[in-house]
Amino acid sequence: MNDIVRLDIKYLKGVGPKRAELLAKELNIHSYYDMLYYFPFRYIDKSQIHRICDISGDMPSIQLKGRFITFSEQGEGARKRLHALFSDGSGNIEIVWFNSVKRMKESLLPGKEYIIFGKPTLYNSRYSISHPEIEESKPNLEPKGLRGIYTLTEKMRNKSLTSKTIQQLQENLLASIKQIDETLPKEILERYKLMGLHEALINIHMPRSIHDLQRAQLRLKFDELFFLQLNILRFAKSRNSKILGFKFDKIGNYFNNFYNTSLPFPLTNAQKRVIKEIRKDMGKGRQMNRLLQGDVGSGKTLVAVMSALIALDNGYQASIIAPTEILATQHYATVSEMLEKVGVKVALLTGSTKKSERDVIHSQLTSGELNILIGTHAILEDTVQFHNLGLVIIDEQHRFGVAQRAKMWQKNTTPPHILVMTATPIPRTLAMTVYGDLDVSVIDELPPGRKPVTTVLRFDNHRQSVYRFIGEQLKLGRQIYIVYPLIQENEKLDLRNLEEGYEIIKETFPSYRVCFVHGKMRPAEKDYQMQLFVNHKADIMVATTVIEVGVNVPNASVMVIENAERFGLAQLHQLRGRVGRGADQSYCILMSNQKLSKDTRHRLKVMTETNDGFIVAEEDMKLRGPGDMEGTQQSGISFNLKIANLAKDGQIVQLARDAASEIIENDPMLTLPQNKTLAEQLMFLFQKQANWSLIS
Ligand code: ADP
Ligand code: MG
Repeated sequence: MNDIVRLDIKYLKGVGPKRAELLAKELNIHSYYDMLYYFPFRYIDKSQIHRICDISGDMPSIQLKGRFITFSEQGEGARKRLHALFSDGSGNIEIVWFNSVKRMKESLLPGKEYIIFGKPTLYNSRYSISHPEIEESKPNLEPKGLRGIYTLTEKMRNKSLTSKTIQQLQENLLASIKQIDETLPKEILERYKLMGLHEALINIHMPRSIHDLQRAQLRLKFDELFFLQLNILRFAKSRNSKILGFKFDKIGNYFNNFYNTSLPFPLTNAQKRVIKEIRKDMGKGRQMNRLLQGDVGSGKTLVAVMSALIALDNGYQASIIAPTEILATQHYATVSEMLEKVGVKVALLTGSTKKSERDVIHSQLTSGELNILIGTHAILEDTVQFHNLGLVIIDEQHRFGVAQRAKMWQKNTTPPHILVMTATPIPRTLAMTVYGDLDVSVIDELPPGRKPVTTVLRFDNHRQSVYRFIGEQLKLGRQIYIVYPLIQENEKLDLRNLEEGYEIIKETFPSYRVCFVHGKMRPAEKDYQMQLFVNHKADIMVATTVIEVGVNVPNASVMVIENAERFGLAQLHQLRGRVGRGADQSYCILMSNQKLSKDTRHRLKVMTETNDGFIVAEEDMKLRGPGDMEGTQQSGISFNLKIANLAKDGQIVQLARDAASEIIENDPMLTLPQNKTLAEQLMFLFQKQANWSLIS
């Protein structure tokens, strides 16, 4: 980019030291570049003149051309107003001023033609405009195009720095640079039919037409995302080429025997595809770092098991780590049953494994006798040493920090392959940005025969009918979850709600067994209560969100979520995933009070309309913004994009990603002469930023 954009903003015509200080403080604008990339947040249309008789409905600000016919002052003292009737031959409209009465009355001449600009509002079934912008109409005054409106702060307004001022400064700025150097290679401009940078910057500030504005926006969004991706991929590439990994190039007896004799059901196409991706990745000779996304119930466990068998076939051990003891125990039960016939030795290690058992596990691990170790955080401890660990599978990733993953890397001389499984879908655009080159596999298909969970919203005054429904389901022999939110700030009160709920449920369903779980319980007690439900020794579980992760009780058919308005979308979806695991029709009942904000109402509506975790995730990102999504905080990426929006511009993210990765494939360090401009622009954009992509 031209050197001139680095100039201090105080040198721009119309700025000077005082304004420069204000711009720096209020808008973080320090240089010409900062100013040029301070884009309008919306536009007003001055490209056409409306007729008064056509004014209808809720219109934005519009332009009218005509004459003032009458003026009248109304009210007294501070409440004095000026009313005028404005006519264009097609009709009249009232114009009102609440201040500057005297000045307006003196400056506006009856009979002279003016162009006025403002928003018509309906009052007492008549349209009026208050405080319009006014210009004298000149014979050859062309209708202007769109005008950008810039965000201002209170302080700026007080110092009379208006949107119009900024507009003027942008004009001065653009006039002072004859030609803004192009930053994208010609092939990319041509392939994606992008507007040139110079033209785009002019049109983003002073669009000639809606069409040109849209092309300018596309170009600048692409630009922003392209350089972001280029930066991410450049570091990811150099990281990948450095870290060697085990080469699993064999498929042997473990895998084949399992596939031929013990596969519990035919794989779904998505499972097949994902296993292929994992196998290919582990065969490359570099360390795999893969995220496996699949909605709750999509069959990730089976993928994990088959990946582990590939490790075994190549002479290595594998380990599966789960975030809770319950989940680890369940995995252990499922996996050891699946692998019984193929002669794989599996063990379980958790915080409550007895010393004597632990000793056996330790020695079998180091001798290599043990093939797969399943467990909790207990596996991370330094005393747990493997003979030859080749693959680590981490279930429900978001409970695991980067530091913990790093611990597993150290369990072998060469870091083992890592497969992280998560049931919290992340929109693809976000995954590409946050995880850089962490490869992503997606199971986007549920096993056949699943009945989608029916989700309904019920208000507190429907409670009796909800209880009746629960009663019917209990009679059918099903189990019920009832979940309460816990909000940190007022734990005591929350706990009382939960306990009250528990008492009411016991009274309402006296002939059924109710268990009770919350996060503040001692782990042993919590486990005991959970096991009651898992083994169908309890029919109803009243709980806080501790059940969110992983428990598998196919007989549970109803999930009641109390105060559903207090949960986020991701959490609601996770909770709902606890039901719908068996053959029966399942239900999720969202209980809430009736006073809901617009966003909350939308959130709950999304839940009742779709079971698809990816749609839920997209909606979640639209509501909360990418910066607040699960897992993005630690990423260190700034989501303060100037113009692109990860939630809305998914397609552009993909295009930018493709374009960037093609370039990085051919020239990882951007040293080729044709990529010199790109390298310089990257330096210019990211020089201050730390190399965060190494973290993921
Ligand atoms: P999650 O992805 O949530 O971890 P699980 O691996 O626990 O899902 O699988 C959910 C359920 O679906 C389990 O009961 C499992 O046995 C079953 N399942 C997995 N794969 C298939 C398949 N290909 N066909 C039928 N059922 C399957
Ligand atoms: Mg699972």
